[in-house]
Amino acid sequence: METVRRQLPVVGSNGINLLRQYIHIRSGRRVSRPSQIYVNVNQRCNLQCKYCDNWKSDGSNELPKQTWLRALDDLLSWARRPKVNISGGEPFMRKDIYEILDLCVQKGALTGVVSNGYYFTPKLAPRIAGLGLTNINISIDSLDPAVFDVIRVNGRAGHTGRVVESIQRIAHEVRRQGADTKIYLKTVITGANLGSLVPLVEFVEENGLDGIMFQPLEAVFGRREDFGDDWFRRTDLWPDDPALAGAAVAQLAELKAAGAPIMNPSGHIAAWAPYFRDPLAGATGQIEGTGTCTIGHSHLYLNFNGDIHLCWDFPPIGNIASALASQQWISAGAEDVRRDIAECTKPCTKTCLLDRGLKETVSAYRQLVAPRSRDEVAAAGDLRLDLRHGDGTGPHAEPASESPASWTPVTLGASDHR
Ligand code: SF4
Ligand code: SF4
Repeated sequence: METVRRQLPVVGSNGINLLRQYIHIRSGRRVSRPSQIYVNVNQRCNLQCKYCDNWKSDGSNELPKQTWLRALDDLLSWARRPKVNISGGEPFMRKDIYEILDLCVQKGALTGVVSNGYYFTPKLAPRIAGLGLTNINISIDSLDPAVFDVIRVNGRAGHTGRVVESIQRIAHEVRRQGADTKIYLKTVITGANLGSLVPLVEFVEENGLDGIMFQPLEAVFGRREDFGDDWFRRTDLWPDDPALAGAAVAQLAELKAAGAPIMNPSGHIAAWAPYFRDPLAGATGQIEGTGTCTIGHSHLYLNFNGDIHLCWDFPPIGNIASALASQQWISAGAEDVRRDIAECTKPCTKTCLLDRGLKETVSAYRQLVAPRSRDEVAAAGDLRLDLRHGDGTGPHAEPASESPASWTPVTLGASDHR
């Protein structure tokens, strides 16, 4: 009964949204509303991944809290129980992030946050676990410090243990409070971590987390043109041997088929081996058989500076500081971008796209909003925790300086951790 009470409004709202999106696509009547809203509240991060640009900002161009609260209040009153993902940069580097998240939850949105987990300290984890979030996604590319440190922090060592402890701590805290927040890992597949993928799946299972979402390396989001078509030849993170990458992906497909909690749709995973052979061929985001991408009718992206996008790879349709996003969604300029998006032929690996079948879509929503069973809550006490140094004073303490020692001029990107 509890499950039905929780799931009915979500299914109902998303059903209406899907119908409206269909009418908009077929008739051109601007009646659609976004069902997925992605918000990058900042462009700062304490972990400096080689494949990401989002840690290079000093934060001076971020919008103030009041602008975010006003924009989200408008958007979430207009859209019907959308799924909202708050990300960055590292969103917990904003002190006001709690108010932003709280507003989304209070407006009835299915609210998730993407974080590198670094700030899930003993002091903050209880507060974060008590926010009423639908999901917390934590990005981690390996449990092996030798690999983690190659991809992240540009060679600065020592963060792996702290992030692993943080993941275990937030999972423990969510269960201790009896919250229904789902804990997912997010992992970018690169040439450096092919041997780390299966251990991460095992870690998810061993620690009672809710799932893991993989994403193949791609050019920095929204800046593909800046890097040119040969971007993957200019990074040491692109897999040298496509056969090895294909074998690693095949292992993930097998694990998923055997019931492992890998959240990517099967069809998505099947597209990765060809992608690693030739990243310029094909677009997994396009609807099979039609060559048409409909993301412009279902997704809305807000960047740290307030720019509103229908896809990160297309120019903004406006800015939340100048007009309500709900009005800009139906503007003539937005319709122009939707027409361009419908003809998109870019190689695309977006994990946010609804390229699932109906069964997988329903299953994903059910999983997201299903309450935990008593057994799962009871199992919280069994989580293997070793949190002795997790208060920022132990061996994984915050580095004295957050400024990067150096960074390469060409960085290549992970799209969803933003
Ligand atoms: S990918 Fe995520 S964790 Fe890494 S630098 Fe970018 S925002 Fe930070
Ligand atoms: S790049 Fe954007 S518009 Fe093109 S297929 Fe991917 S999601 Fe759709």
